[in-house]
Amino acid sequence: MGIFEQMAQYGHEQLVFCYDKSTGLRAIIAIHDTTLGPALGGLRMWPYEREEDAITDVLRLARGMTYKNSAMGLNLGGGKAVLWGDPHTDKSEELFRAFGKFVETLGGRYITAEDVGTTVEDMNYVLMETDHACGRAEVSGDPSPVTAYGVFMGIKACVKQVFGTEELKGKKIAVQGLGKVGYHLCRYLHEAGAELIVTDIDPEAVERAKQEFGAKAVAPDEIYTVECDIFAPCALGAILNDDTIPGLKCRIVAGAANNQLKEPRHGNMLRERGILYAPDFVINGGGVINVAEEYHPQGYSRERALKRVETIYDKLLRVFQIAEQRNISTAEAADVMAEERMHRIHQLNRIYLAE
Ligand code: NAD
Repeated sequence: MGIFEQMAQYGHEQLVFCYDKSTGLRAIIAIHDTTLGPALGGLRMWPYEREEDAITDVLRLARGMTYKNSAMGLNLGGGKAVLWGDPHTDKSEELFRAFGKFVETLGGRYITAEDVGTTVEDMNYVLMETDHACGRAEVSGDPSPVTAYGVFMGIKACVKQVFGTEELKGKKIAVQGLGKVGYHLCRYLHEAGAELIVTDIDPEAVERAKQEFGAKAVAPDEIYTVECDIFAPCALGAILNDDTIPGLKCRIVAGAANNQLKEPRHGNMLRERGILYAPDFVINGGGVINVAEEYHPQGYSRERALKRVETIYDKLLRVFQIAEQRNISTAEAADVMAEERMHRIHQLNRIYLAE
């Protein structure tokens, strides 16, 4: 498929190819939709096999940010950037500063941040060349604990929806992935009295969860068939698929991982099995709320960020309500919620303001 065809398929506004001959920079910035404001989304560094893979990835990720930012009630559009290279061997000061200069050329239409393969240190170089970057270490810091708090609030909303009370005491929760988000999520869940069943490919992370939270551990491939109330995927994408969904023994799937459904139809498959799915871009939006707080007129406040993250609870209940009213999956309902907000805000352009 040609690039314009791909852009037209999902309505992307702009795709910017950035090449610098001295550093060898090969980066692509995708701006999907700026109805709500400047396009915010991180910079991913990845050793793509082919150029087409980088283009497909950046288009897909940018669109995802439009929906996430809208669902979170932010006045931000969706964008993303990819840097074609190996994060282990290809990083340099010049490379990230060159990328920063290209971000600057967009005059604030795109705001970058760290993502898979990039770090706060890399962003410090980007920030030498542009102000259009956020997620600064000394300002909003690591978003993971805030993301985890949002997932915790989201799990409570799911429990309320399914069991009629948000009480987590005694609930069995299977957590896949004990990294930056999964670990903090386990802490919140443990403090709320939940029983944890955990897995990770890193034995040290598993040991820590056993010691600190009294968690029971299972092998990585056993987590999909564990008997539990809630399955919380906090590691990989595409884990909800034809192979795993039939074996799930839970009432709820609610976790931090991005792109949990392998294909959109898997949202319906969960629904048919009577499993409530918390759409990933709604439940894991705490991280973007946290970085976006850097743009608050009064400056970043962790307290304000956490208050805003708590609204994920009501946002999910709203998604469940839309799903019930329209008889659609919760994944489809989350898209509807995000699209409707963009539409409503766009309508405000009718109101004329004098210069
Ligand atoms: P992380 O890399 O710190 O943690 C991932 C963990 O998953 C690691 O401990 C890793 O060993 C484990 N893992 C990998 N493969 C596994 C497997 N097959 N089985 C079990 N465990 C496995 O990442 P993170 O920042 O905690 O993010 C987790 C997920 O949440 C990712 O999908 C990420 O995109 C998403 N997310 C993160 C944030 C954030 O603020 N960090 C925000 C939104 C979404």
